[in-house]
Amino acid sequence: MNEQQRKEMDQVRQRDPENNLERIKEKSSDDFMKYFETTYQPPNMRDAQRRRKQDVDVHYDFHIPEEMQGVGEDRKYLIRTYGCQMNEHDTEVMAGIFEAMGYESTNVATEADVILLNTCAIRENAENKVFGEIGHLKSLKRENPDLILGVCGCMAQEEGVVNRILKKHPFMDMIFGTHNIHKVPELLKEAMFSKEMVVDVWSKEGDIIENLPRSRKGKIKAWVNVMYGCDKFCTYCIVPYTRGKERSRLPEDIIQEVRHLAAQGYKEVTLLGQNVNAYGKDLDIGYGLGDLMDDLHKIDIPRVRFTTSHPRDFDDRLIEVLAKGGNMLDHIHLPVQSGSSDVLKIMGRKYSREDYLELVRKIREAMPNATLTTDIIVGFPNETEAQFQETLSLVEEVGFEAAYTFIFSPRENTPAAKMRDKVPMDEKKERLQRLNALINKQSKETMELYEGEIVHVLVEGESKNNAEVLAGYTKRNKLVNFVGPDSAIGQIVPVKITKAKTWSLDGEMVETTTGVKE
Ligand code: SAM
Ligand code: SF4
Repeated sequence: MNEQQRKEMDQVRQRDPENNLERIKEKSSDDFMKYFETTYQPPNMRDAQRRRKQDVDVHYDFHIPEEMQGVGEDRKYLIRTYGCQMNEHDTEVMAGIFEAMGYESTNVATEADVILLNTCAIRENAENKVFGEIGHLKSLKRENPDLILGVCGCMAQEEGVVNRILKKHPFMDMIFGTHNIHKVPELLKEAMFSKEMVVDVWSKEGDIIENLPRSRKGKIKAWVNVMYGCDKFCTYCIVPYTRGKERSRLPEDIIQEVRHLAAQGYKEVTLLGQNVNAYGKDLDIGYGLGDLMDDLHKIDIPRVRFTTSHPRDFDDRLIEVLAKGGNMLDHIHLPVQSGSSDVLKIMGRKYSREDYLELVRKIREAMPNATLTTDIIVGFPNETEAQFQETLSLVEEVGFEAAYTFIFSPRENTPAAKMRDKVPMDEKKERLQRLNALINKQSKETMELYEGEIVHVLVEGESKNNAEVLAGYTKRNKLVNFVGPDSAIGQIVPVKITKAKTWSLDGEMVETTTGVKE
């Protein structure tokens, strides 16, 4: 940072609380409405749905602008993350960018110079949590006017949310969308010097930015983006609007990243995408997720997972590669959403109950011991009791070992949110309970099969609930808590299961590796 920048920064630091309230007043006047009308292009659902295949540029030239290098010296950042692994990983990238600017991370809000909320829009309660948090941040801002506050992630891509923040929370300094995280240094600079709230949201596409720094959480497991966005437009889902169109990273960039992680000693990678099975379609090079997994199969890293799969694009090539074993795991998370073909049709899932069961049959034929888990929505508009019963029977028929279950949450401007719905909320809640009881029962039953068996556990650290024991996951994603030495952390070790619970297994570390049940 040069002398001039330092002076400018100091001016920013010296704003007093009174001035800051001025700033708030200023932005809550009619001025900001004018600003909003001229500067901000809201996400447009119709445009998003009309998007076509367009060239996606891949950039390898990310760098921290000169004037922002060293800006973070003696300063701290805090990022609160809501939602899925994709958001967790975006946070790792933003953390990497902050650290490249010299910032240090903190978990203490009162110590932070910048606080970002990396948000999730998938259901209403996720959004409510964020608005609650924004409310709390106002008092911090009064105490420390130089504190920079930002909202990013999926909520920032929603027109209604951006309007609400502009109108009701004008003390926020910046809002930026999911495609813009590489612009953090520029946005931060603008927020530091501007009196206006900085809004940078794209409604449609984004390019792919390689070579972004990352500050990964831990040295054992790593997330790797394989693609961004989603073009499926399920009628209930906000993701295609908040994450933009499907864009795949080039195979060589992904393979290089995984090789690099393997060389650094990581034991597991999870390939990330909203619909990973569509990987490669936009590249038009005849290379899909199966081909990518086949290339990763040859890399010396013990475990490769991927999430999330869409049944429609899950092809035979992928099944063939997964069946090769090795670092390919036969745990497949395959969201079904409903067991009723009629509901699936209105959801726009583009497969029927029969199609899904046929896919499960093929998977089981190739991988007889495959563990299947899923996502299910109950109480989709006008779901009948008979249709819900079809979901229960599908859960039994497939034998899901775990599931993320949700009550339908209307998301603004999605087709399903406009459907008139006759099912009362109490009934939806009651269906969710019945579904969860069945899933719990199935989970417990499969866990019990492990009692007395030896499994391989990738040890992540101390158990969250009991520092006396270690915790980790099996290849099939079963959580195991066990007694063992600290030296096992980061290793894959054999553990004998002594007790099965509904969602986890208890055990003790053993020497032998013979007779291991994966
Ligand atoms: N792409 C994945 C797929 O197609 O299954 C899912 C990604 S989404 C982030 C995770 C899950 O959230 C979905 O599988 C669905 O079950 C749930 N979900 C999405 N929109 C929802 C809504 N409006 N209400 C309730 N649950 C929803
Ligand atoms: Fe949402 Fe998944 Fe459907 Fe895409 S495929 S619209 S992310 S539920």
